[in-house]
Amino acid sequence: MKAIVDQDTCIGCGLCCGLCDAVFRMNDEGKAEAYQAADAANQEDVQGAIDGCPVSAIRWAE
Ligand code: SF4
Repeated sequence: MKAIVDQDTCIGCGLCCGLCDAVFRMNDEGKAEAYQAADAANQEDVQGAIDGCPVSAIRWAE
């Protein structure tokens, strides 16, 4: 499962990276990006980031 961060919406709060640094990292623009697909071990953490993102910038890829 691949997560996607909407670069125009992300405010760079860092919450998703803190919840799951195996999937999310901050890029040079100060926005989060999903640099790796989620696996069975961290899928719940990614869902937590999706649910917890204050601006709802993260979603699962179709
Ligand atoms: S939680 Fe949302 S706003 Fe915060 S860094 Fe991640 S994608 Fe951006």
